[in-house]
Amino acid sequence: MANPIPSNQGLLKKYQDLDQKGNIMAEYVWIDAEGGTRSKSRTLKYKEEGYTPKDLPVWNFDGSSTGQAPGDNSDVYLRPVAVYPDPFRPGPNILVLTECWMADGTPNKFNYRFEAAKIFEKFADQEPWWGLEQEYTMLDLSNRPLGWPVAGFPAPQGPYYCGVGAGKVVQRDIVEAHYKACLYSGITISGTNAEVMPAQWEFQVGPAVGINLGDEMWMARFLLNRVAEDFGARISYHPKPMPGDWNGAGLHSNFSTKEMRQEGGIKHIEAAIKKLEGRHQQHIAVYGDDNILRLTGRHETGSIDKFTWGVADRGSSIRIPRETAAKGYGYFEDRRPASNADPYRITHIIMETLFE
Ligand code: ADP
Ligand code: MN
Ligand code: MN
Ligand code: MN
Ligand code: MN
Repeated sequence: MANPIPSNQGLLKKYQDLDQKGNIMAEYVWIDAEGGTRSKSRTLKYKEEGYTPKDLPVWNFDGSSTGQAPGDNSDVYLRPVAVYPDPFRPGPNILVLTECWMADGTPNKFNYRFEAAKIFEKFADQEPWWGLEQEYTMLDLSNRPLGWPVAGFPAPQGPYYCGVGAGKVVQRDIVEAHYKACLYSGITISGTNAEVMPAQWEFQVGPAVGINLGDEMWMARFLLNRVAEDFGARISYHPKPMPGDWNGAGLHSNFSTKEMRQEGGIKHIEAAIKKLEGRHQQHIAVYGDDNILRLTGRHETGSIDKFTWGVADRGSSIRIPRETAAKGYGYFEDRRPASNADPYRITHIIMETLFE
């Protein structure tokens, strides 16, 4: 489905500049059953000091329309957990990240944040830092990667990774707009780059502490989906959007604790890797759907049924960055998570394996 009338940003600006008469618009955002983002807005009174999650009303939506609840018990509650400035509605307007809850006081079955937040609270003294690398693919409305010929294929991979120049990258405007939107909203976006497969890009969030990583990553995904909507593009988080000799998409998860970041930290990193080795299959189970298509042991991945690790080895499950090995402290990278994995589930299971 395409926009029948192209968006006219100049015309929209005329209305965006109108006075809101002491009100703000709050866009409530939630995660749906498919790992997509959904949102709806409501009007709140303007407050000089702004809003924190505690001051925001709990709201609800029709869970039977999103596959998140049955029709005869369809109200799903939206509990605010984080607030960000809204880059699409400049001024005092806000984006509100929420958790989904059922009427009986239990978390909705797609609410993976609630349990993750508990484990972060329990092991807060570890001071866990996260940096996640979100790879994604830009598609047209018929699901063909943008810039790919309708029939046939682009030239083989090689020129596209961190590429500069026409014919090497597509739709950089979306990347730039998303980067700026993240900064405006206070997301700790640490960078972006063009990826190995044409029409594939990456952004990184981090280092962010504890549950904040999942919150910021989900908000960054919402912002990307929303920016791409403005430009008429689709964003795919599928880990192997194009079969064949094309790189898949991952969500490399970089991690460190206070001890790992200090002199001699490498021995804590090695101990962590040992623990991860013993629970490989449990991790794979929550590292995203269709990951088996991506973790083939080729295209810079490890194999799905074998745990491996190495210094600077991009064909392993866990990579110790060269700099960390050289200094003897730093962080490690779990390369297994697929691009469509839920950051709350990744960070939760790593905490569980290492500390529980
Ligand atoms: P790669 O070389 O694998 O492409 P990137 O530069 O894309 O790595 O991403 C590395 C991520 O790791 C960034 O988000 C960065 O903020 C994060 N990071 C850096 N240092 C640490 C650390 N000590 N603990 C956790 N994450 C870190
Ligand atoms: Mn209605
Ligand atoms: Mn990267
Ligand atoms: Mn990458
Ligand atoms: Mn990486």
